[in-house]
Amino acid sequence: MKILIEHCQKLNINELVRSVKSELTKVKLQSKIDALGQTLDITTTPCHFGNERLWFLCPSCKKRVATLYKPPTKNILLCRKCHDLTYLKSRYNRMI
Ligand SMILES: [Zn+2]
Repeated sequence: MKILIEHCQKLNINELVRSVKSELTKVKLQSKIDALGQTLDITTTPCHFGNERLWFLCPSCKKRVATLYKPPTKNILLCRKCHDLTYLKSRYNRMI
């Protein structure tokens, strides 16, 4: 049975950035951040008005993602695809 996304610890880049706003400039330069006991790679893409958008690099597939997940049974943050997570809603829909 697939692990439900709702049961995972969720780490969103935007929420993380908000919580460490004062340290953001430092974090950006380092392009790495420690969160939930794991060192995560961060990358940026340019967006409007000269701002940059921040992303995590999934430690497994190296893809840009806004949110990483840590399922209750595993002790590592990875993207949704790498953990093969599913939403409670989508499972429910398939049963109909
Ligand atoms: Zn991944």
